[in-house]
Amino acid sequence: MQSTTYGLVIHGGAGVILRKDLTPALEARYRAKLTESLATGYEMLERGGASLDAVVAAIKVMEDSPLFNAGHGAVMNAEGVCELDASIMDGRTLEAGAVAGLQHIRNPIALARDVLERTPHIMLIGDGAEAFARQLGYEFVPNAYFQTERRRRQLALARKLEKRPAGRPKARPTRVTFATVDDNKYGTVGCAALDRHGNLAAGTSTGGMTNKQYGRVGDSPIIGAGTYAKNATCALSATGHGEFFIRSVFGHNVSALMEYKGLALAPAAAEAIRQMARLGGTGGLVAIDRHGNVVMPFNTPGMYRGSRVAGRALSVEIFGAARKPPASR
Ligand code: ASP
Repeated sequence: MQSTTYGLVIHGGAGVILRKDLTPALEARYRAKLTESLATGYEMLERGGASLDAVVAAIKVMEDSPLFNAGHGAVMNAEGVCELDASIMDGRTLEAGAVAGLQHIRNPIALARDVLERTPHIMLIGDGAEAFARQLGYEFVPNAYFQTERRRRQLALARKLEKRPAGRPKARPTRVTFATVDDNKYGTVGCAALDRHGNLAAGTSTGGMTNKQYGRVGDSPIIGAGTYAKNATCALSATGHGEFFIRSVFGHNVSALMEYKGLALAPAAAEAIRQMARLGGTGGLVAIDRHGNVVMPFNTPGMYRGSRVAGRALSVEIFGAARKPPASR
């Protein structure tokens, strides 16, 4: 069946992204890369390609860019090493693939897809995942390939902050047991797409969170938390403080609210964010439903995001509505 509409929606992470912190040149680089990612995925959909292929292609563009917290430019863990997680889900079959704790695979999203297509499993981690990649002839890169100076500075700052609460007698109690850096806590990338055949797919790729404990895995590779896709409802990718997205079973929540309660995509996404925020979490998601409706809500000051749907203008945004300068009268 040919669907009348098709398109995709992407994010490059949510967090404390303020206009004052982005130089015009850096903002232009982000916008250009988001646009390139959208154009890459959209071209495939336009030619009749599968949503799964468009998701991989759009995410690879961001994994290869140092701007985002995925692939090259990923954040570092407490040991100064990049550990990468990714997942992908096919909304047509509900098949999924995920990888976690990779240290040498250039494009984790590609390996997640191979887990989906070539194994009877859903998730492979660490050495086992990399051994699987070796069997498939993947190119291995040194961990230094992922590491950038900017992420090194963020890790140094997080380590410094970590020492602070202990030294303060009246430190506010917090559930976060490790210090991370606010300005770039996030930066994960993700994509949700609808193809001309009416099939939905979603994927997410990340370096996790700066200064995370060695071996920590967040929501991004967890199906039903950071990634979810089902043809009957929607496809989505989340970004934010992963522990809260796992605990609220975020991605599946959105889909279940649509399927069981009959909610439309926008109210379902808003409700899932409310439930996640009630636990104390921050972040957002991008999602598309089978009619081509797109949402990109978040409860952080900003989220790198964009969409391109047939018959509608391409949109790329960074800041939250509340942060826009007031319109002049
Ligand atoms: N959700 C990711 C994680 O917790 C981080 C992010 O979205 O930037 O690993």
